[in-house]
Amino acid sequence: MSYTYEKTDDILAHQGDDYEKFMGAVVPPIFQNSLFVLPTSGNGIPEHPYVYTRTTNPTVEVVEQKLAALEGGGDALCFSSGMAAISSAIMHFLEKDCHVITVKSIYNPTRTLLKEYFPKKFGVQTSFLSQEELEHLEDHIRENTKLIYLESPSTGIFHLQDLGKIAKIGKKHGIGTVIDNTYATPLYQHPLEYGIDISVHTASKYLGGHSDLVAGALISSKEICSSIRLGERANFGGCIDPHQAWLLLRGMRTLRLRLEQHAKNAKAVAEFLKNHPQVEQVFYPGRKEGPQKELIEKQLKGFNGLLSFVLKGTAQQAEGFLDSLTCFLKGCSWGGFESLASPFTVGTSEEYNRELDCPANLIRLHIGLEDVETLIGDLKQAFEKIK
Ligand SMILES: *Cc1c(COP(=O)(O)O)cnc(C)c1O
Repeated sequence: MSYTYEKTDDILAHQGDDYEKFMGAVVPPIFQNSLFVLPTSGNGIPEHPYVYTRTTNPTVEVVEQKLAALEGGGDALCFSSGMAAISSAIMHFLEKDCHVITVKSIYNPTRTLLKEYFPKKFGVQTSFLSQEELEHLEDHIRENTKLIYLESPSTGIFHLQDLGKIAKIGKKHGIGTVIDNTYATPLYQHPLEYGIDISVHTASKYLGGHSDLVAGALISSKEICSSIRLGERANFGGCIDPHQAWLLLRGMRTLRLRLEQHAKNAKAVAEFLKNHPQVEQVFYPGRKEGPQKELIEKQLKGFNGLLSFVLKGTAQQAEGFLDSLTCFLKGCSWGGFESLASPFTVGTSEEYNRELDCPANLIRLHIGLEDVETLIGDLKQAFEKIK
């Protein structure tokens, strides 16, 4: 039998371990099988609950138990990617010709899903609200609104949404609420405690943490998870592969340690950028400043290695800066061990920036686990090369 732990570090280390079931293996084995043969009176196979890996698999179950325990959910489900988790969570609430409310600052592929795919295919209408419009959320609710989709903080300039307030509005109008909780990870924000229905994550970022896997997850009540397990996940087939689940498990054991080091490094880099004459503005929620200070303090228990800044100068100068970096690699993901720089709104149109609710010339940095002096030195020399 597996034991239920309460403390975060105990959950990360041991939740889901079952020495009797896994014959004393200190690490749960990879059940790399599609099928589980069923017991009959003649074959001597003991009773077990498994049928087929698309629905349940013992290795996958260990990760799901960890995630549910970490975020206070009734259950959790793992997926083949963050987008598989996101699209399943959205489809759980969607109806043909319904209306969805979301924020402008969401992850780009999710925007495409809600702006183009679902509208063209199923007549769904989506309202993308700015931070100001979100203040008057109830004005945007229609008779056919079925879902409020959030991402808090977002991953460009880290907009937060008031989860308690929005969950309450959702409940009052019978509208489902989903949040992309990837930034905070299950350690630093527990949306279900505010009344949000589903928390989704990509596991390809900090949960995995080593830039060696693509996976996703959602955490919710037992009822919703059971409905998605047999509905969206079984029918669309976006289940995680057991080997990916095992890698994810390995990454998660060091999640808290890694996050703390990422945040420590990022805070130092944010400080450096803040004082640099070539920097217009720095966005790092861990500085706990700006108009959302109170919400940051209320909702976020910790921070990570993601930050962004507006470079003073032209788009060409920002491009030149990015090309001069040697330790920072140019890439658009985040959450791994390595430091990355990406041209978030460098050279993009004003219309695009407005659509994202983001300033122009924004460079996003993911601060990795390298020596922080090396990273600051790299930024310094790239600033000096700007002409
Ligand atoms: C990367 C990312 C996703 C998508 O995850 P995949 O595993 O790549 O499908 C979703 N949301 C956020 C905030 C992300 O950064």
